[in-house]
Amino acid sequence: MIAINAIDQLAEPYDIAIVGAGPAGLAAAARAAELGLSVLLADENPAPGGQIYRAVTTTPVAKRDVLGEDYWKGGALVERLTKTTASYAPGCTVWSVAPDEEGGFELGLSLGGRARLISAGQIILATGAQERPFPIPGWTLPGVMTAGAAQIALKSSGLVPSGRTVIAGCGPLLYLLAGQLAAAGADIVAVLDTTPRRNWLSALPALPDFLRSPYLAKGLKLMAAARGKLSFRTGVTALAAQGADKVTGVTVTRGGKTETIACDALLLHHGVIPGINLSNAAGCAQHFDTVQHCWTPTVDDWFASSIPGIAIAGDGAGIGGAESAALRGEIAALDAVRRLGHLTEGQRDSHAAPARAELARSLRGRRFLDLLYRPAETFLAPPANETIICRCEEVTAGQIRDTASRLGVTGPNQMKAFLRCGMGPCQGRLCGPTVVELIAQVHGVSPADTGYYRLRPPVKPITLAELAALPPSEAAVKAVVR
Ligand SMILES: Cc1cc2nc3c(=O)[nH]c(=O)nc-3n(C[C@H](O)[C@H](O)[C@H](O)COP(=O)(O)OP(=O)(O)OC[C@H]3O[C@@H](n4cnc5c(N)ncnc54)[C@H](O)[C@@H]3O)c2cc1C
Repeated sequence: MIAINAIDQLAEPYDIAIVGAGPAGLAAAARAAELGLSVLLADENPAPGGQIYRAVTTTPVAKRDVLGEDYWKGGALVERLTKTTASYAPGCTVWSVAPDEEGGFELGLSLGGRARLISAGQIILATGAQERPFPIPGWTLPGVMTAGAAQIALKSSGLVPSGRTVIAGCGPLLYLLAGQLAAAGADIVAVLDTTPRRNWLSALPALPDFLRSPYLAKGLKLMAAARGKLSFRTGVTALAAQGADKVTGVTVTRGGKTETIACDALLLHHGVIPGINLSNAAGCAQHFDTVQHCWTPTVDDWFASSIPGIAIAGDGAGIGGAESAALRGEIAALDAVRRLGHLTEGQRDSHAAPARAELARSLRGRRFLDLLYRPAETFLAPPANETIICRCEEVTAGQIRDTASRLGVTGPNQMKAFLRCGMGPCQGRLCGPTVVELIAQVHGVSPADTGYYRLRPPVKPITLAELAALPPSEAAVKAVVR
């Protein structure tokens, strides 16, 4: 592996550029490099691993059972990459991907406070998932954060929230995160489960598949561990964070009764959804996935997107978890190698066959989890009008509802023009899904009918100095001297 620590060390063009060093990106980069291609793997974090294997090579957490056996499996994936000739650029943020004039692609990236445009023949976006936004009254108070962010602090720095901590939400990760933080010494005073009871009905048809899937044993073990140690309250239908300049408690409603639990930290989590900003800004087609209830890029069996030459692998193309992410990365890499003429279709297919069989097995049971843990409508479209939805621009649910009903705004891009929601540093990652939900609710349609933000580069913040220092591209020079 060639470690890239400065932007001048990037040697271009690359045959394949891969964005994201989680399981999907690590597996894709290793596979393509093992087949002799020149590969760049760029990731914004200081060490490889993505979300699940975050900081697996550098974590200060020594006790293996704190993070669980699955976490340490990431070491083997990193090890495999280090044995290849792939170039790996940590701390490298990719803020744009666009076709160039030679039939390849131009990537805009930043590393060490400097930016550069580089080119590559094929692109694999392995940018992963993000936590589904969970806006409740008071969620912007200091001391309120996502449970995933708390896990990031644990994995990368061994930190746990100080004081009485409440975890609230739903989804398979909630139990994992609660168990990990408790094992690391956090004082978890309550876990508030918002899984709607009626979801069992809609998930039931998918139960048989779940019962013969790898998720069953893992899920039972996680739940038994978490419930055995922690105080769970299920059937939570409403939440509000209390406090003036920091969180001091959380008001919980369940079974029609309301209580307030004192706490110093409130961790929210109600599932993960694909991180679509880079693929969206690159122009890749996307659709609303009614089972996972989110907008997601449209890909084919080889994870090729609607733009020939751009593949999207891993949770960035639909939630399937770490194991399937690595397999999807492998499969996408094999097709990219074929597109570059280094494999025939037959060779690609036979190379991919074992990964495909494993993938089918690893995704079995996923549908049940997606249906069971779909958040309740009241948490997808917060009823309280004063709830802030766009944290960057401080736009509230009431403003969005009012603009949708009084001005007849039917889509998020129009809403953005009216209210500036989605125009801040996160480029809609934290408000997009909720803005869509609120508009759909006002007009009595599905989120699939409202569309999603149309994003443009840069998808991640970049300084003016970086932009100004970019060497002018040939096209830019030609445009000026003509
Ligand atoms: C906060 C969080 C915590 C999670 N924890 C767990 C867990 O403990 N166990 C579990 O089983 N699953 C966990 N998941 C689910 C997780 O999605 C999958 O397990 C798995 O990590 C998906 O792998 P991936 O390779 O698709 O993406 P990821 O592992 O998410 O890797 C994507 C990588 O791309 C990077 N990236 C994204 N955009 C850019 C860009 N523009 N430029 C450069 N780099 C970029 C990201 O920072 C990340 O490092 C978590 C998900 C989230 C959101």
